[in-house]
Amino acid sequence: MRHLTSRAHAKVNLHLGVGDLREDGFHDLVTVFQSLSLADTVTLDIDDEERVASGSIVGALGVSGLDAASVPTDASNLAWRAVDKLVDHYRAHHGPVDAPRVNIRIHKGIPTAGGMAGGSADAAAALVAAHALLSESHPALPMTTLSELAAELGSDVPFTLRGGTMLGTGRGEQLTPMLSRGTYHWALVFFREGLSTPTVFHEIDELRGGGAVIGPSLHTGELARALMTGDPQQLAGTLANDLQVPAITLRRDIGRTLEAGRQAGALAAIVSGSGPTAAFLCSSELHARDVLDDLLADGRAYSGTTAYGPTRGAHLVD
Ligand code: ATP
Repeated sequence: MRHLTSRAHAKVNLHLGVGDLREDGFHDLVTVFQSLSLADTVTLDIDDEERVASGSIVGALGVSGLDAASVPTDASNLAWRAVDKLVDHYRAHHGPVDAPRVNIRIHKGIPTAGGMAGGSADAAAALVAAHALLSESHPALPMTTLSELAAELGSDVPFTLRGGTMLGTGRGEQLTPMLSRGTYHWALVFFREGLSTPTVFHEIDELRGGGAVIGPSLHTGELARALMTGDPQQLAGTLANDLQVPAITLRRDIGRTLEAGRQAGALAAIVSGSGPTAAFLCSSELHARDVLDDLLADGRAYSGTTAYGPTRGAHLVD
């Protein structure tokens, strides 16, 4: 048995502007993603003795680490779907594929249903590992093809594949790299109970239908300028998330945690993506630790960690 391991990182949306609901059920987004040091790893255990000529090459999937119990271990897992998608692509474009049986092991450092693209990161990591395996015996695919396959797996998968700092448009899958100077430090607070992304998007539509004016925040110029300075103080004033009000409306505890983080001295407090994770921008790693310690000490937060960004996209590890 041999192994291939890859790692993919969580994201935070420095800007998340939610536009109109499209006919395909997605919303038009203008978002700025930044990848954080928080990561999951996906390992393929490869049995070269057993070859699979048709159907899924995945035999089984196991999950360990943060929130492991709430992650599916069947073919609905995004990492499993990613391997199947890649193999199907090779079968459709390169004739019969006789690949070895693989078992997937996921180790989670990213909270599940936390608004940090954990499942998407696993899909991206699995794509990279499966691509390394398949390209041993077939032509390697260009990044554009991998990104297209990633977009079919989920709106955030192309970003977790590529990492860094990117402007995302369309449903977030059309990416343009952005310049970002320096390193930004965060305290992240996780909640015991996750939030479903579709529920939060549904809530923004309900609130807007009832007359609430929430964005759409479509302009990222100030944020782009702040990112060029490398100064977290400047970045703090430019963060925006149209999903913050709907997330807090659904879960009042998020709003209380954001306020507690501001009281603890964070430069800015935002909901990460669709939540519930609360992300606190800080001036340094030490500052992030202090803010997190404050939040954890008085029992208002369930668990959390510090993280920094930007980091890289999904990549193989030794
Ligand atoms: P996003 O920020 O991209 O909107 P999220 O971080 O809020 O997503 P995920 O952690 O990606 O949410 O999980 C959403 C749901 O996807 C989970 O409730 C789970 O049922 C399902 N899922 C499928 N595969 C995975 C995976 N590998 N890891 C976590 N969840 C997964």
